Amino acid sequence: MQVEAVEAAGAAGAVAPLAAALLGALLGSFLNVCIVRLPLDQSVVRPRSRCPRCHNQIAWYDNIPVLSWLWLRARCRHCGQPISIQYPLIELAVAALWALAFRWYGLSLDALTAALFATILLGIAVTDARHMLIPNEYTWGGAPLGILLSLRGGYRGLLVSAVGAAVGFLLLYGIAWAGEKIFKEEAMGGGDIKMMTMVGAFVGWKGVLLTLFGGALLGTIVFIPLTVRRKRLVPFGVFLAAAAAFTFVFGDAVYRWYQTFLM
Ligand SMILES: [Zn+2]
Repeated sequence: MQVEAVEAAGAAGAVAPLAAALLGALLGSFLNVCIVRLPLDQSVVRPRSRCPRCHNQIAWYDNIPVLSWLWLRARCRHCGQPISIQYPLIELAVAALWALAFRWYGLSLDALTAALFATILLGIAVTDARHMLIPNEYTWGGAPLGILLSLRGGYRGLLVSAVGAAVGFLLLYGIAWAGEKIFKEEAMGGGDIKMMTMVGAFVGWKGVLLTLFGGALLGTIVFIPLTVRRKRLVPFGVFLAAAAAFTFVFGDAVYRWYQTFLM
């Protein structure tokens, strides 16, 4: 019996990442729709997928993640205009994130939480990089999802999540307020405040601090030199997203290290 149980667990361990990758590819296809439509305030449900150039509806067999793009050789079946490589890349990225989450955490609610969180963060990062904005669907939509999933940790998990969301909101609101007083211009957008509320719901208040620290560090190293030269605003959400993903996976290890470091 025991051997059988171990074998069954082993099989689930091997099959789960594969099934997660397939589900991830489908979700990646939906995330593409969100990335294109949400900044334009369009519905992500209706109308059905259309070619952005000739507006012909895309048949289901031309809408299969990654494969259709390859099969159609990156061109629309109707008008022959090129289809952006962003579509298969996002699908592959989300598939990889889902496979990785279920490989890392096994078949568990932790894996589901990690995969959903990563998908939301990817949507935020791509949209912020392209349009300098973070749609509410990811943030105000993601925050209740994070709180709901925190119930996997029982009452304590729920408390950590709710406090995390509150700290994320208040801290970023405070920074934005202080920035405006000091620099006399908007230093941080409302999108960043809502984003950190959502992030807090997933990683707790310690995670909010680590994400902010990591995001600021990344932003300083990578982007400030570019920004100063180009005089362009920083899409801070990109760095916060990377730091939030790191925090979700490695946060506990970092807090432990920090505690021993202090003592
Ligand atoms: Zn077309």
